[in-house]
Amino acid sequence: MKKRYLILAILAASCRPIDTSKDEPIDVSTHDDVVMEQDIEITDEEPKVYRATETVYTDLINTKLEVSFDWNKSWLMGKETLTAKPHFYATDSLVLDAKGMEIKSVTMNGAARPFTYSEDVLTIKLDKTYTRKDTYTVVIDYIAKPDERTTGGSAAILSDKGLYFINPKNEEKNKMPQIWTQGETEASSVWFPTIDAPNVKTKQEIYITVDNKYATLSNGKLVSSTKNANGTRTDYWKQELPHAPYLFMMGVGEFKIVKDSYKRPDGTMMDVNYYVEPEWEPYAKAIFGETPKMIGYFSKLLGVEYPWDKYHQIVVRDYVSGAMENTGAVVFGDYVYKNDRELLDANDQSTIAHELFHHWFGDLVTCESWSNLSLNESFANYSQYLWDEYRYGLDEAEYQAIGEADGYFASAQQQGYHDLIWFDYPDKEAMFDGHSYNKGGRILNMLRSYIGDEAFFTALQSYLKTNAYKPAEFHQLRIAFEEVCGEDLNWFFDQWYLDSGHPSLTVSYDYVSEENTVYLNVDQTQTDFRLFKLPVDVTVIDDRGAITQRVWVNERSNRIALQVKGTLKNVVFDSKAQLLAKITETKPEAWYIDQYYNGPKHYIQRKQALQFGLKSKTPESEKLVLDALNDPFWDIRTTAVERVGRLTADNKTKAIEQLKKMVTTDSVSSVRASIVNVLSTLLSAAEVTPILEERIQNDRSYSVVSNALNNLAKINPDKAMAAAKKLEGEKSSRMLGSIAALYAKTGKPESYGFYVTALQSGYIQGFDKIGALNAFTFYLSKQEVSMQQQALEIYKQEFASGGMYVKMFAPQYVTYLKNSLGDRISKLQDEENKAKEAGNTNAADIARGKRVEAEALQLEYEKLLNSLNE
Ligand SMILES: [Zn+2]
Repeated sequence: MKKRYLILAILAASCRPIDTSKDEPIDVSTHDDVVMEQDIEITDEEPKVYRATETVYTDLINTKLEVSFDWNKSWLMGKETLTAKPHFYATDSLVLDAKGMEIKSVTMNGAARPFTYSEDVLTIKLDKTYTRKDTYTVVIDYIAKPDERTTGGSAAILSDKGLYFINPKNEEKNKMPQIWTQGETEASSVWFPTIDAPNVKTKQEIYITVDNKYATLSNGKLVSSTKNANGTRTDYWKQELPHAPYLFMMGVGEFKIVKDSYKRPDGTMMDVNYYVEPEWEPYAKAIFGETPKMIGYFSKLLGVEYPWDKYHQIVVRDYVSGAMENTGAVVFGDYVYKNDRELLDANDQSTIAHELFHHWFGDLVTCESWSNLSLNESFANYSQYLWDEYRYGLDEAEYQAIGEADGYFASAQQQGYHDLIWFDYPDKEAMFDGHSYNKGGRILNMLRSYIGDEAFFTALQSYLKTNAYKPAEFHQLRIAFEEVCGEDLNWFFDQWYLDSGHPSLTVSYDYVSEENTVYLNVDQTQTDFRLFKLPVDVTVIDDRGAITQRVWVNERSNRIALQVKGTLKNVVFDSKAQLLAKITETKPEAWYIDQYYNGPKHYIQRKQALQFGLKSKTPESEKLVLDALNDPFWDIRTTAVERVGRLTADNKTKAIEQLKKMVTTDSVSSVRASIVNVLSTLLSAAEVTPILEERIQNDRSYSVVSNALNNLAKINPDKAMAAAKKLEGEKSSRMLGSIAALYAKTGKPESYGFYVTALQSGYIQGFDKIGALNAFTFYLSKQEVSMQQQALEIYKQEFASGGMYVKMFAPQYVTYLKNSLGDRISKLQDEENKAKEAGNTNAADIARGKRVEAEALQLEYEKLLNSLNE
């Protein structure tokens, strides 16, 4: 699964179109924190409980489901035929998880069997005692009623519903009615009785009967599709290879199926389809089209061919997480809907890679318990690095990796530190955090760096082959690595898997030229965590070249002598940029400048050159900025662009001339977008206006156009408004969100119509909707009461149909409007009093009339707020 808190981070980012001015209605970043803390609450007082792996009494062999739906009641009518056997000990009962169901009957060989059903556990008395050599079959008739389960109403329970009917009665505009499922962690047992634990595996068959207009999706192969006499159709999906119950998936809706395929090494073709709403059919290949290449690349890299029947991906509405790796039937939230222009600014390939890689790590070999979740998520997280490295180069992979490490540092600081393999978690949902994902991914990269690429991928192949179609715990991963590289790796696994935290290092150097030696001083300064044993690559660069060697940092204080052959120019600590550590390094500015040009030249080393090498204005530091404007990697160019302002005289003139060219020629939109901002600060209004207008007209990237619009608005609001007007018809969530933010700043009454059309068009989707409503709220707070009155209806519609996140923010919008109206009422009261004192009854009447109107609206806001809080 792609974690939820990542989604909330995207949400915060999407809410950025309004600048962080003081009067912004909603501080989204704060709200984000609150949600994270609500979701995952860890307190020291909780007693530590060892979370044992579920004991296996019964092996499930095959799960056959026959399902149909009552859309009006949000029910699933199901018949399950379950084939099973005792795991080892003989037994005459079968115990299943079945959450909030109506169990109509249980039979064996046509005869009813007694059962008890309470507290979501279904216990069936079998017709005799079975041994492990026997198999038996039970048939369960049931109705799943996901909306009728008693829930606590917390954010965590919301995502625990298992089976979701979205707009089932088709009462909401712009939202295609649909049904989808979300099994992880233990919610599949809401829609079929099963043993809902990750160490269970079963084969799967499902017959889905729907109205003929609907497409269906499930795991495995579509074996048949049969039209029934009553106008319905039954699709039969079958997966012959076993997988865990949490990976079962079902989707229904009027989706368009865009077909793609992957050619296996044996020449056979495998279906790779994309299920999208009709509106997005033209963009499906632009969004998902790299998938076949990814399947090929990962299969080859792992030495284990993609193990499942097919690979389909579906985009659903109101999704409760980021994406989910259901075997061969992956679900995404609607944030992945992006048109070709939006894809220039951001794509979702890292999420696509993440879910795909789970088909080896998670679906083929499954963590045996949630404590071992990192066996799934660290690999999925690391696949993002692997894909970037292959497709976009090592710089991109390393750039993203820094974000992943920062994600771990931030989440651990907020939520607390724990062992990566966390045997005493407070709640299984707490496992889906910056440890299991980000930290786990970074640890894998350190291991790869230590043992080398060939050993690393050979060990992964062995781990996958040994544990295929079985659950695994982290020791099995350790053993796979040990067998390949021949070394006892307990030291590595003990500190990174069975302990918490990370090293904090201070690094400094003493160069003693008469000894031809530079001394590397490394102190481990962490006090809350253990002392680490760290293999680190260090590169010494002198005028004769660069030499890299591996040193060990084991002690609290380490002083390591490194030989220098010529004149020392620089020392690069952690030259492969792989350590997961907080590093504070002290070295001369000249060394930082040198590392842009010499030595290992990884992304981070070039970035550090620009961060730490420019303190003094020297010819060398100015040359560095000019050279970095031509760096092959976009983030280095962006960093240099942002530093052009500090250049002096001719260098500055030269750089500005280059930026004027790059603003149209740079291949990466985020670089062009930064240049637009920087030129707006460095050039006069007269000089920059034609550049901004040209970009608004010609740049394909919405982020460049948005930045140009925002800068133009500062110089000439009328021109900016006129330019924005022409873009109101763009079918782009992000562009419309950006215009919404611009209009909120300018605050002109005639913009009202845009908000109404844009919000109701259905084009502003997902998280952009939060940003647009944010802008609309800010805009409205400055408008006449009559307009606010009119807008109430729009809010009511949005709150009813806007999905989980809009509902989450709804009270804040209304509160903001209500409070801003409160300020206005007291001002009107003052006006009225002053007019009365001055004996101007006419003016006093007008002010009173306005006040009464505002007070009436305030009551309406209060009513709406009460209904939201109910
Ligand atoms: Zn995942």
